Amino acid sequence: MDTLALLKKYNVAAPRYTSYPTVPFWETDKFNQEQWLISVKNTFEDYKSEGISLYIHLPFCENLCTYCGCNTRITKNHGVEQPYINALLKEWDMYLNVLGTKPKLKELHLGGGTPTFFSAANLQKLINGILEQCEIAPDAEFSFEAHPDNTTKEHLVTLHQLGFNRLSFGIQDFDPKVQLMINRFQTPQQVENITALARNIGYTSVNFDLIYGLPFQTVDGLTETLKKVIKMNPDRIAFYSYAHVPWLKPGQRRYTEKDLPDSESKFDLCNLGKNALIEAGYEDIGMDHFARRHDSLFTAAQKNELHRNFMGYTHQHTQLLIGLGVSSISDSYT
Ligand code: SF4
Repeated sequence: MDTLALLKKYNVAAPRYTSYPTVPFWETDKFNQEQWLISVKNTFEDYKSEGISLYIHLPFCENLCTYCGCNTRITKNHGVEQPYINALLKEWDMYLNVLGTKPKLKELHLGGGTPTFFSAANLQKLINGILEQCEIAPDAEFSFEAHPDNTTKEHLVTLHQLGFNRLSFGIQDFDPKVQLMINRFQTPQQVENITALARNIGYTSVNFDLIYGLPFQTVDGLTETLKKVIKMNPDRIAFYSYAHVPWLKPGQRRYTEKDLPDSESKFDLCNLGKNALIEAGYEDIGMDHFARRHDSLFTAAQKNELHRNFMGYTHQHTQLLIGLGVSSISDSYT
């Protein structure tokens, strides 16, 4: 079968590869809360010295990016922050009761939604509440997702002081036509400034997310975006394929399929990005991820130590991932 025929055949919506089997194929009726808590306890006991990973989902965003496939709650009411933090800390407390002793924390990731929707002071409250019940591993990695449009110096300083050393900015595309369609606006200058600030503060790894296959995206537009991104030199780049699922995500009805690149054009955009990043010195880690050679993901890939969990790629090996907050997914080995 030629490439075009293969593209047409496989250009269908499929679940994200975060686990095997993927989430829609889980046999949830064969599993219950009681079994889950036993599994958490057993895994924790068996792998206590390895430590645990923690994911916290912060679902709020002020505006809906129309392409978004995440679990979000769109609101401009920041009064939701405190009750949500209370609920997260309560959930954490429930897990601590199951674990029975302070866990060693190897990995902490704040995802969303937009973690930087929360004020720096509230994030500090949340993280302090989590960390006071943990022993932090010496090589722990703390990371968070940030929107370049609302990340402040205060966010960066506060989270860095709390131990965060990595962050990820959602960029997607700088083309104004695409940004208008996806209702997500950030200028290259904004991104450059906030990235430079993060580096000055001491963040050792900055990731940019880009997406190909967005409405009105063109080879010329994406070429320009890639040039600007490469100039800013993030340590990692995730170059994702856009998933068009308007029956699940009605925000995507802002445009129609006619506004999207067809399968052939999407393939061209994919190759364009991949080739540009490799030419710029990024290593293709796999599954849409690219990293500079100094980055720990690349080193882990070289040593066959790359690990994938619900937070994405990591070089940390923990057998217990606890997810806190709405829609977050936990994972235990036993
Ligand atoms: S893409 Fe990010 S910022 Fe935009 S709506 Fe989705 S979670 Fe919120």
